[in-house]
Amino acid sequence: MKTAVFIEKRAGTERLRNVTLELTGKAAALMKPFHGEVVGIFVGDRLPEDTDELFKYGMHRVVFYNNAKLKHLHSIAIKQVVAQFVKREKPDIVLFGATHTGRDIAPLVAAQIHTGLTADCTQLVIDDYRDKGKILYQIRPAFGGNILATIVTPDHRPMMATVREGVMPLPEHKTMNPVKFEEFTPDFRDEWVRHEFLNIIPKRSKVDLGAANVIVSGGAGVGNKESFKLIFQLAEALGAEVGASRAAVDFGFIEKDHQVGQTGSVVRPKLYIACGISGSIQHRAGMEESKKILAINKDPDAPIFGIAHMGVVGDLREIIPLMIRYLREEG
Ligand SMILES: Cc1cc2nc3c(=O)[nH]c(=O)nc-3n(C[C@H](O)[C@H](O)[C@H](O)COP(=O)(O)OP(=O)(O)OC[C@H]3O[C@@H](n4cnc5c(N)ncnc54)[C@H](O)[C@@H]3O)c2cc1C
Repeated sequence: MKTAVFIEKRAGTERLRNVTLELTGKAAALMKPFHGEVVGIFVGDRLPEDTDELFKYGMHRVVFYNNAKLKHLHSIAIKQVVAQFVKREKPDIVLFGATHTGRDIAPLVAAQIHTGLTADCTQLVIDDYRDKGKILYQIRPAFGGNILATIVTPDHRPMMATVREGVMPLPEHKTMNPVKFEEFTPDFRDEWVRHEFLNIIPKRSKVDLGAANVIVSGGAGVGNKESFKLIFQLAEALGAEVGASRAAVDFGFIEKDHQVGQTGSVVRPKLYIACGISGSIQHRAGMEESKKILAINKDPDAPIFGIAHMGVVGDLREIIPLMIRYLREEG
């Protein structure tokens, strides 16, 4: 068996995106029982400078096509090259990060090679399926997160999926696979590069939820924008990042960059403090893998308590100021 992973650089840098490392770790775990191969495909102006890292996470081989014309996202050209790579390598599975680039390229490739694609998978499992032998179960929330759908591609190859950054944990144990690069020479046509990038203005976000060890998140229960200052104050006292439920974002308490959940960021901090958040399935999808969860909610039956390791039942407007005072005096 063989799994291919689409290699991406972090926007504006020459380094690998975390999701590429996460997918490599996942692909290695999927391939291990079958002694299968994990092969990376990179298409761009030049390989990320830390590509060697991939071999520590279970990559066996990196196939690359460097072309200065592909410094930026030229979807049609990249699609053509990846499709040629797929035809040559015949992987059973192809994984993309559900990034802007992955969401653009993966469906184009799937359409070109006539196979299926499941977007935003939260679990990937290989198992037997009817008389088809071992296939990839592509699992993702569906119908607004109310059910988990298991999607299979029994009759076409490769089986393709995208996964959002942060959804698959980075494996702790690093392997020491030998470094193996292979240059790919596709049939490339300049006419596939159809547009020119005159200027790129990166969107600057001050929020880095993925990197935070501690996140204090506020929900609709915070009440209003003024009270949301309490969430910022608690976060500041803890040296934490500020998160939010979608309801808090929709009410205008805080900007969308802070949203955690199915349609926000997926986070796994050491400590996640959920304040006035009920614990909807869509919110949990973004934070339930946190190492420790503390919930503050006035409703003792709020679903968030079902996944919290620690809970305080009460009015957050009374509890949070006490926490801040304690941290400022004792901390
Ligand atoms: C397709 C889809 C995608 C979605 N994506 C996301 C997503 O990415 N992230 C997300 O969060 N949601 C998402 N949602 C919305 C989700 O379904 C919920 O509506 C949302 O998470 C609810 O936010 P909340 O918990 O802040 O609000 P509520 O559910 O209204 O809960 C507020 C909580 O605050 C408590 N409370 C009230 N006052 C106080 C007080 N003074 N002190 C303490 N506690 C108090 C209440 O008891 C209650 O439990 C999505 C929905 C859909 C359909």
